Amino acid sequence: MERRALILLVLAGAVSVGGCGTPLEQTAVPPTQPSVTDTARIAAADGEPDQWLTHGGTYLEQRFSALDAINEGNVSELGLAWFFDFDTHRGQESTPLMVDGVIYVTSAWSKVFALDAATGRELWRFDPEVPGEAGYDACCDVVNRGVAFYEGKVFVGTIDGRLIALDAANGEPLWSVATTDPSQPYTITGAPRAAKGKVFIGNGGAEYGVRGYVSAYDAATGELDWRFYTVPGDPDGPPDGAASDEALASQAAATWHGRAYLDYGGGGGTAWDAIVYDPELDQLYVGTGNGSPWNHVYRSEGRGDNLFLSSILALDPDTGAYLWHYQETPGETWDYTATQQITLATLDIGGQPTQVILHAPKNGFFYVIERRTGRPLSAEKFVPANWAERIDLNTGRPQETPGARFETEPFLATVGGTGAHNWQPMSFSPLTGLVYIPAQQVPFLYAKDEKFAYRPGEWNLSVSFNDVPLPVAPEAREAIKASLQGRLLAWDPVAQAEAWRVEHEAPWNGGTLATAGNLVFQGLTDHSFRAYRADDGEPLWSYALQNAIITAPIAYAVGGEQFIAVTAGNGGGLPLSLAALDGPKLTPNGRLLAFRLGGAARLPPFAVVARPPVTLAQAGLTPSPAELEAGFALFARHCSACHGTEALSTGVLPDLRTAPALADAALWRAIVLDGVMTAKGMVGFAGKLDATEAELLRGYLAKQAERLVMN
Ligand code: CA
Repeated sequence: MERRALILLVLAGAVSVGGCGTPLEQTAVPPTQPSVTDTARIAAADGEPDQWLTHGGTYLEQRFSALDAINEGNVSELGLAWFFDFDTHRGQESTPLMVDGVIYVTSAWSKVFALDAATGRELWRFDPEVPGEAGYDACCDVVNRGVAFYEGKVFVGTIDGRLIALDAANGEPLWSVATTDPSQPYTITGAPRAAKGKVFIGNGGAEYGVRGYVSAYDAATGELDWRFYTVPGDPDGPPDGAASDEALASQAAATWHGRAYLDYGGGGGTAWDAIVYDPELDQLYVGTGNGSPWNHVYRSEGRGDNLFLSSILALDPDTGAYLWHYQETPGETWDYTATQQITLATLDIGGQPTQVILHAPKNGFFYVIERRTGRPLSAEKFVPANWAERIDLNTGRPQETPGARFETEPFLATVGGTGAHNWQPMSFSPLTGLVYIPAQQVPFLYAKDEKFAYRPGEWNLSVSFNDVPLPVAPEAREAIKASLQGRLLAWDPVAQAEAWRVEHEAPWNGGTLATAGNLVFQGLTDHSFRAYRADDGEPLWSYALQNAIITAPIAYAVGGEQFIAVTAGNGGGLPLSLAALDGPKLTPNGRLLAFRLGGAARLPPFAVVARPPVTLAQAGLTPSPAELEAGFALFARHCSACHGTEALSTGVLPDLRTAPALADAALWRAIVLDGVMTAKGMVGFAGKLDATEAELLRGYLAKQAERLVMN
């Protein structure tokens, strides 16, 4: 009956055909009733290595699997077991969960899929039907990093700010709450976490201008239990009546100056990824984001630490009460978030077993922080970050490089807002004692935006962004490409030193998984999925895909057989805004892939057909140099963050140089101004652009298209 239903759905065009393993694999029987998964079970998850119960594998979020059937001796026999195709080529950042034989994975636009973990057969799917307009509020693609599983329910946060509880047995929604004000440019891309009968969720939006907070909802009912704002509200207004009131009044308020942060949307500090429950100390850790707007001079008169931006906050999970904080980047001005993965471990430090947080945030320092107190025990650079010399462990503060704040002159930072390490998960192996960081160097020229004017609902960085033309000379372009570096870095957190590294061709590679098989798995932007020996970095296995991997794999076992699974699909902040300097790219739909020893499934041929460029002649336009310059400026401001610097799209969103509408002025206006493609996430810009400006953009893009003809 299920097979018949599947056939009907395929005939109706409602599902892409996934689960293409061998027919023999279709015999596995998925469970009909999800078993009880509560705080106690997740807290003991390391005793059940067959499962992947929570975002980081266990509450400690080490992303270490004790499974060793796949190991350094046989990983060369690893092959594709099955794959499942998603219905979108937008970015795939999900870490799947595997609970009792069922995989729960999300795709772009906050869609949830339940699959048979042995075969990839679809059991159910849930589409929260996020309106396309919400895509405009997402700085960094309409991605989703995964679900939480708790007491028979699956929880997902949606791009438009909802938290939804689904029945794990069938995907039926049980409750849904709006966690954000829909009139504000908030989004949710992070995975919820669940513990102690609560679901914890944050949000994003600091590039636009919002006030960050984290919320706890009752897992059974969806009722709000508590909320903690990460930055102060209006000092002249009443308190929020939230768990954060006391800490904001006594510690944070005095570290903010002027009212600009209120006028510019709320100061930022959004908690958009790491929210981790510590079952050993009964504390909740939250990583907070960058300031809004970026530039400290505009945000806070260039004064004050601006608590609790770019910090790790420890809260009481029951009440949200403040326990401690550690601010990694005081007076943040570089988009240096501290939202990156928070990993909990017990390390031998100075002969003492010490409960610590391992943290590799954007700013390039690797921090070992005492969990009980929030005191930094050590902090060293894991990439060459030039904004600060060192961290003074007595004060916990960085010793900044003169000029790094670009108050009078631009500053070329070796680590920009893309981060030395972004959301891509890292892993920690208790066997090797090493942390495996998807590290990168993406330099950024910080310059004050002298013309900054706050525009509600739009990007409000107050820092120059994509508004200086790229050099045309080939050698200059080669230099830009060479400056973009990515590497797999094995880091010894006790010695605070590199153990080994593998250089990659590009940044923005996938997160990592460490296993007891002495293996580290990582997918790359070069369309390969790889395994390395965990203790020395020796490359052991590589599998060619048709798409980039940007997220981290998981390990699980069904019926005694170990699998490694990972989602593939390029996207996220950097690929949207980057210039594809080596020619146009095509991105196929994302998919989830599962591997096992001897797996023999094959991927179908890749069949995305390139569209031809639309030239000035076809567009019927002859723009003057001044009009082209005006078109470039409009593109930089309104379009480049999603369609690529100078329209050199990396292929996640359409390459506008090949948009058929370029040849049709009326259709172009209907899309660009009237928003006829809003359902797909391309909102209308009427009110932001007029018909003359839309035409300037059309001319600029058709001119850019001529580069493709020359290629
Ligand atoms: Ca940011």
